[in-house]
Amino acid sequence: MSPNAPRADTPDSGPTVKSGLNEELQREVARLAASPEVRSAFNWFRAQEPQLLHWQMEMARIAAPPFGESARGAWLAERFREVGLDDVRIDDVGNVFGTHPGFGRRFVALSAHIDTVFPANTPLNIRQQGNRIYGPGVSDNGAGVVAMLGIAALLRAVRIRHALPFVFIGNVGEEGEGDLRGMRHIFATPRWKDSIAYSLVLDGAGADTIVAEALGSRRFEVIVRGPGGHSWSDFGAPNPIVILAKAIETFAATTVPTMPKTTFNIGVIRGGTSVNSIPESASMKVDIRSTSMNEMERLEQSLRVALNHSVEDETMAAEMRSSAQRRPSGVACEFVVIGNRPAGELHSGARILQIVHAVDSHLSNAAQVQRASTDANVPLSMGREAVAIGGGGSGGGAHTLQEWFDSSGRELGLKRILLTMLALAGVGE
Ligand SMILES: [Zn+2]
Repeated sequence: MSPNAPRADTPDSGPTVKSGLNEELQREVARLAASPEVRSAFNWFRAQEPQLLHWQMEMARIAAPPFGESARGAWLAERFREVGLDDVRIDDVGNVFGTHPGFGRRFVALSAHIDTVFPANTPLNIRQQGNRIYGPGVSDNGAGVVAMLGIAALLRAVRIRHALPFVFIGNVGEEGEGDLRGMRHIFATPRWKDSIAYSLVLDGAGADTIVAEALGSRRFEVIVRGPGGHSWSDFGAPNPIVILAKAIETFAATTVPTMPKTTFNIGVIRGGTSVNSIPESASMKVDIRSTSMNEMERLEQSLRVALNHSVEDETMAAEMRSSAQRRPSGVACEFVVIGNRPAGELHSGARILQIVHAVDSHLSNAAQVQRASTDANVPLSMGREAVAIGGGGSGGGAHTLQEWFDSSGRELGLKRILLTMLALAGVGE
């Protein structure tokens, strides 16, 4: 997703994590930014812009639908080698890794998802007009991946000291049905699970947001099946549409808190074949969201209870209605999980958030703390320090064929990422 351009999937933003500026970190960031090597890094970013745009267009021309990211992953692994990262590899699910050495065993991770929402047959007509490029995926996540590559390339061009080592990750499976599978895999792998101290996730363009709260979601398809029958001659048999309708009525009355904001939606309902048939099945799709795992859990329970009651009620009512010689056969109810993203939030004293605030203050950059669903959900749900920010420049039309990216001002985004990483890693003395 693109944190600076909220889409229907992530409609929500609001300053929910507050933290004052930490003066010591503020001085540290100012000291870093004034160092000769960081100043030459800033100049280097400016000079690299044509290369960055070139990479961005080249990458956007390689299709990367959910579960079909391998060609783009191979391209990225090649770029990682080209810019001099160490230990470049692709894991079992297609995540691409490269490291840059430091001191110490724990890493600062810089990641960007390489998948897009676009199906494999989408025409990838990527074109440039001045500072602007157009086409599917140029911003989400062309902007994030290229910012990550820019930082990796910089570390070879300009020698910058840092204590903790860096790991660069182009991960798969962020969008839609990918359901964060790339990040989940990384944080389930012993090698990375315990060694990533901080995760800086780059998603989309911009430099004006900090996603510090992970909006979780659970999605279900609920299917109710019954014996079906003729509306006249089988009258009395249990009706799956009625069962769903009753369950929806009960579930929709569930109260939800405004803090932590929690929502639910019945988005699709289907069932039946004709007006004079008792339906054999009916189904609905339900979406539950919150930044609190407990609230999502509670709502899921409430949905299941509403359904069970409704099945019982309708079964009983059917028995009363039907004649003695024609007893209705049973009703079955199936719950299919079609989406599951963990929720979580950064604790208020989190170092990563204080650092991003200090960097923004140093760069006179106004940014808002937001709540969204990104790759950062995975580390955040595990209580780890993680935020998602943009890769700089500006963009729009995410998830449409009219997507665009404008590289004007990309430097600010790159400076912000670099200073944040250096402050997180500490300076090797
Ligand atoms: Zn994205």
